[in-house]
Amino acid sequence: MIRTVMFAFTMFPEAFDALRRHAWADCEVVYTGPGDGDYWRPFARHWDNPDGDLLVVEQDVVLHEQVVPQLESCPEPWCEFPHPNREDIRSMMQMSLGCTRFSAALRARARSSDILERARLDDHPAHGWAAPGVLRWDHIDGPVFRTLLATGYSWHEHQPPVRHLTAEA
Ligand SMILES: [Zn+2]
Repeated sequence: MIRTVMFAFTMFPEAFDALRRHAWADCEVVYTGPGDGDYWRPFARHWDNPDGDLLVVEQDVVLHEQVVPQLESCPEPWCEFPHPNREDIRSMMQMSLGCTRFSAALRARARSSDILERARLDDHPAHGWAAPGVLRWDHIDGPVFRTLLATGYSWHEHQPPVRHLTAEA
């Protein structure tokens, strides 16, 4: 089972519509709010929820019809559909939270507390925190991926890429 969760502060109608068309069977849109820590709190709650695989979709990413079927038939624990980079649309972002599946087994081995510990070990104490024990909204992906790499996982790339609306603007 794949739980699809879109974490959104700003609503992008095209991304929401694609979610509804291609992942509606088991998906949730989580409003993250304007605060620096408002993404991490629901993210950590969903991450630590042991039920099924978690497909994270960012607010400006447009799923296509192959995303869920490909992930459902792929045994890898960490799968990503790349999307164009906001800074340079000709390049693809890798290791992003844009459209990425994390299996239940992977999340059981690398808990949100491990992600916080990774950030605490790696990063300057004044950098990337909204509050003690709360990662800032723009400093979640790095600690997540460094935790998974340190736990021995590597990511599996799927094709074709998904659209990234902010990179097209
Ligand atoms: Zn895969």
